[in-house]
Amino acid sequence: MSTSKLRTNNFIYQIINQDLEFGKHHEIHTRFPPEPNGYLHIGHAKSICLNFGIAKRYQGQCNLRFDDTNPLKENIEYIQSIKRDIQWLGFQWNGPVRYSSDYFDQLYQYAIELILKGLAYVDDLTPEQIRKYRGSLTSPGKNSPYRNRSIKDNLALFEKMRNGKFAEGRSCLRAKIDMYSPSIVMRDPVLYRIKLAEHHNTGTKWCIYPMYDFTHCISDALEGITHSLCTMEFQENRRLYDWVLNNISITAHPRQYEFSRLNLEYTIMSKRKLKILITKNIVEGWDDPRMPTIAGLRRRGYTPASIREFCRRIGVTKQDNNIEMALLESSVREDLNTIAPRAMAVLNPVTVVIQNMPSDTIEIINVPNHPNKPEMGYRDVPFTKNIYIDKSDFREESNKNYKRLVLGQEVRLRSAYVIKAEHVDKDEYGNITTIYCTYNHDTLKKNPSNKVKGVIHWVSVSYAIPAEFHLYDHLFSTANPDAAENLLSVINSNSLIIRKGFVEYSLRKATYNTTYQFEREGYFCADYRKSRPEHLVFNRTVRLRDIRTKILA
Ligand code: ATP
Ligand code: MG
Repeated sequence: MSTSKLRTNNFIYQIINQDLEFGKHHEIHTRFPPEPNGYLHIGHAKSICLNFGIAKRYQGQCNLRFDDTNPLKENIEYIQSIKRDIQWLGFQWNGPVRYSSDYFDQLYQYAIELILKGLAYVDDLTPEQIRKYRGSLTSPGKNSPYRNRSIKDNLALFEKMRNGKFAEGRSCLRAKIDMYSPSIVMRDPVLYRIKLAEHHNTGTKWCIYPMYDFTHCISDALEGITHSLCTMEFQENRRLYDWVLNNISITAHPRQYEFSRLNLEYTIMSKRKLKILITKNIVEGWDDPRMPTIAGLRRRGYTPASIREFCRRIGVTKQDNNIEMALLESSVREDLNTIAPRAMAVLNPVTVVIQNMPSDTIEIINVPNHPNKPEMGYRDVPFTKNIYIDKSDFREESNKNYKRLVLGQEVRLRSAYVIKAEHVDKDEYGNITTIYCTYNHDTLKKNPSNKVKGVIHWVSVSYAIPAEFHLYDHLFSTANPDAAENLLSVINSNSLIIRKGFVEYSLRKATYNTTYQFEREGYFCADYRKSRPEHLVFNRTVRLRDIRTKILA
């Protein structure tokens, strides 16, 4: 997507503007409703930026509400990670964290209200029978034989369900709407099912749990949500959302609006599928730097601002889309270019000996941490007789297009001197082991009379700190892995390449929350799980330029 298509406005803002203009609302209230069954991913970031962004823009409120109606799939670790990720992205929810389970008592009362109005019944069909009776897109459903139970019977049976008198699957509570409705969600949807499971919030108080469609709209209404934003797959469910609110004694009636999910090329978004990658040991966990999770992006070196900017660029529409990874990468690259301190690292080292430099000399060169931001300070970089450069920065012979070090020719060392390659040593296999150079000591921070084409980076051998570099590529080998029959057959087996090299001395204390630009190599940050002062490990966040070659640098 080109920058000219940047969206600063979207259809939801237009709806809200109208609602405010016509006095339908005076304050805007949104919510972000994650199910705590996994870590948040970049798709959730889209929804977070939308919901919290609206609250910010209109000086309204955005609630965080955990949709915790399924006691089996949820866990506290997920709740903690979700809260952390939202705050890391730069957002704060209104008031306390909410849980759908906070409303179990009220939801139960509304269910009884529906029973009393003859609008809900206890059904004894098995889940399998319910599915069969439901019909399909092309055929109507069929009424359950239990559909016409008396209100009194329904109340008594629902009470029994609630008191744990029935086994799981024995009965459920269904809305009495229309088994012939063209909309399948309206064919007597299940409102409550029995689950003999402990809940993280309510313990053993309940053994019946409300379904999403019943819970969500009521929770929205109880919290005074004005605009309930969700993804397109809930479009049909909007009928049920409105039906429930229209048929219970609640005055608030939030409006649901749908927008399209974010899909990113070469990756997947579903928490269920991401979990498979973890259980199959394809990645290390939810925060593996290759994962499209917020935790993974953070560990990889992404900044909150870059993720927010990405979400701004993709905009909010109803169209299905598969966004290029390049758009995410350019967002982080642009942010890091302005804020990342520069440093030097050699990923694939070969030794250079500067013959005309005395071996006991250490020259300290004062180097700016950012080329255009003196306020980011300076650091001392030691220059010595022996230095490392990258193997790919030297050739014995080359043409004019190669602007690095060539035998018999000159190149500039970043922030230091111009050197000339004189001769090389090779091992028995013909690999270059040492490059012998001379330096022109009149070229520190100034140009020699002749023009020197290239600039390469380097690290002093005596002061080099060993480091491991983790270079990442897409997790999947196809742009649309969701379309693959077997997810595991489209895994990119080269999504992680490890290099062992050196970083400059100033990085011996590299901290986890700084992403550096390693001159000419890309943006890197220390891995918070693996990096220690005695064993530095850097993750490559992104390359400096958008070049996709088969072989990683
Ligand atoms: P998943 O399939 O990954 O589990 P989900 O929709 O079940 O996703 P929830 O935890 O229920 O995940 O989602 C919380 C909110 O985030 C919902 O409002 C949902 O619509 C939104 N959301 C989830 N995935 C995306 C996505 N890819 N793009 C935009 N919004 C998303
Ligand atoms: Mg889900």
